[in-house]
Amino acid sequence: MAFDVIKTVFLAFPKGFYTSIKHVFKKPVTLQYPRVREEMARRYRGKHYLEMYDDGTERCVCCGLCAAACPADAIYMEPAENEKGERYAKLYEINLLRCIYCGFCEEACPEEAIFLGHEYEFSDDNRDSFIYTKEQMLANRPKKEKRFKRIIRKVRRIF
Ligand code: SF4
Ligand code: SF4
Repeated sequence: MAFDVIKTVFLAFPKGFYTSIKHVFKKPVTLQYPRVREEMARRYRGKHYLEMYDDGTERCVCCGLCAAACPADAIYMEPAENEKGERYAKLYEINLLRCIYCGFCEEACPEEAIFLGHEYEFSDDNRDSFIYTKEQMLANRPKKEKRFKRIIRKVRRIF
């Protein structure tokens, strides 16, 4: 009994203190989320967005290739034509609950209209809010051009 007490006081306690003190001077591995957010990796695939041309017209021509490539059958669209006879997506929706964020839609798109962004905070308690509409996807697009990504995609298409 006495031996156990001595062992605890002179061995276990100092060992525990040493372990704690060792970590006091180390950089913390945790973040003060949500005040501090980790920058996602460049190749991370999060919530989708739709791109536009510089004049504000939508790049998507509702060809359906993204929906055909989607293994989760998560994309639904309905086409229409504008006054100039150009085809566009009257309705374009992605079911975020079905989506597995594989990026096949992005790969399949010939117009470079759809991309997977870095947004990952979209939890909700209502299933309907996971039907992501065209308007939301257009509004969600980053304002800064991803030139480097575009160049890589163009080179990949050639080869
Ligand atoms: S990321 Fe994959 S699963 Fe999600 S919509 Fe695109 S193709 Fe479908
Ligand atoms: S996002 Fe791209 S692949 Fe999908 S319908 Fe529009 S143009 Fe076609």
